[in-house]
Amino acid sequence: MSDLSRPVIGVLAVQGDVREHRAALEEAGAATLPVRRPEELATVDALVLPGGESTTIDKLTRTFGLRAPLRSRIADGMPVYGSCAGMILLADRILDGHPDQQTLGGLDITVRRNAFGRQVDSYETDLQVRGVEGGPVRAVFIRAPWVEQAGPGVEVLASIEAKGESRPVVVRQGHLLATSFHPEVTGDHRVHALFVEMVRRAA
Ligand code: GLN
Repeated sequence: MSDLSRPVIGVLAVQGDVREHRAALEEAGAATLPVRRPEELATVDALVLPGGESTTIDKLTRTFGLRAPLRSRIADGMPVYGSCAGMILLADRILDGHPDQQTLGGLDITVRRNAFGRQVDSYETDLQVRGVEGGPVRAVFIRAPWVEQAGPGVEVLASIEAKGESRPVVVRQGHLLATSFHPEVTGDHRVHALFVEMVRRAA
């Protein structure tokens, strides 16, 4: 366990936008480490699952022998933040997944992959996120999922209106945080700061 004021947060680095998350986490007061091997995972206080392609990240974590250690650390209470593909990886259930796609699970949610429609590459909006002070965050959704169903232990921190319904896009369940969008691309580090604070409190 590291210095409480500067926790060590790993970023799963098999595929996806690892560099941007590391930069945002460091701005938010954490030390960071790319995680590709079980020995690296064992040294971090917390983990970010970045955006990318959830089917590819799923396959590579299995190939690299990371699936079982990841599931076991999640079950042990390691704080994890999943963004976009990372939200899918944390979800207990997926809609529109690839037939042999698996998730790590832990978050009692059902996510729909590419929920905005396959033709909708990206969508941006200003979003008020509960627990993030100082006004709305710019939310950039890139072939993003949303939450279609959440269990009773899941707090919804932000939603959007889509297809006539309110769709959760930021959720938290204890030590697990997930956003449908990519805060690491905007230069606003408040969502990462919220996660760093969760990590400090969990330590
Ligand atoms: N559509 C991607 C998936 O299913 C997620 C996209 C992203 O992370 N930007 O994994």
